[in-house]
Amino acid sequence: ESRAAAAKAAAVLDLFESVCAREEAELGRIDAIAGDGDHGQGMAYGSKGAAAAAKEALEGGAGARTLLVRAGEAWSESAGGTSGALWGAALIAAGGVFDDQAGSEPRTVVDAIDAGIDAVQRLGGATVGDKTMVDAAAPFRETLDTAFTGDNAAAAILEAAGVAREAADATADITATLGRARVLGEKSVGTPDPGAISFSILMKELGQHLS
Ligand code: ADP
Ligand code: MG
Ligand code: MG
Repeated sequence: ESRAAAAKAAAVLDLFESVCAREEAELGRIDAIAGDGDHGQGMAYGSKGAAAAAKEALEGGAGARTLLVRAGEAWSESAGGTSGALWGAALIAAGGVFDDQAGSEPRTVVDAIDAGIDAVQRLGGATVGDKTMVDAAAPFRETLDTAFTGDNAAAAILEAAGVAREAADATADITATLGRARVLGEKSVGTPDPGAISFSILMKELGQHLS
C-alpha cells in the first residue's frame, strides 16, 4: 500500500517535470510581460528538483509522506522565486496528509490537494482578485470539493481544472497588486497571471494522469 502510494506520487512529480519543461517558454513569455520573465524557468527547475528528490526517496524506500516532503523541499531550493516557495510548501503540506504506511485512497488524494492549496493561501497571503495563482487555486478547490463524491478523484480534478483554467484566463482582465508583477501592475492588464496558468495546466495533467 505505502510503496504503491509513494510510487504514484513519484510518477506525478515526473509528470510535472515533463509538463513544466514543455510549458517553460510560454510561461516565461507571459511572466516577462509584467513580471521578471523567470516563471517558466522557476517551474522547470523546481519540478525537476522535486522529481529527482522523489526518485531518490522512492529508491530509498520512503513512503508517500516522506517522499512528498522531500520533493517539496527540493522544489523550493531548486526553483527559487515566489512560486517555488509556494509550490514547495504545497507539496510539503500535501505530504502531511499522507501516512508513510497508508495508501492513496481517492479521499486522501483530494485532502492532500486541499492541504496544498491551503498552504499556498496561508503562506502567500493572497486572496482571489490579487492576480496570483490563488485566482485559479481557490475556484479549483471549491469545484473539487463539490464535485468529489467519494471515489471520483480524477473526474473531480479534471472538472475543477477546467474551472481553474477559465479563472486563470480571466486574470488577464485584472491589474496585479501582489508579487513582482505589482511593480508593473498596469502592464499586466491583457495578460493572464503566469502562476495561475501553470497551476491550471498542472491540475489538468494530474486529472488526465489519474483517469
Ligand atoms: P517571482 O515572482 O519570484 O519571479 P515566479 O515568476 O516563479 O516567481 O512566480 C510568479 C507567480 O507567483 C505569480 O504569477 C503568482 O501566480 C505567484 N505569486 C506571487 N506572489 C504570490 C502570493 N503572495 N500568493 C500566491 N501566489 C503568488
Ligand atoms: Mg517571475
Ligand atoms: Mg523572479
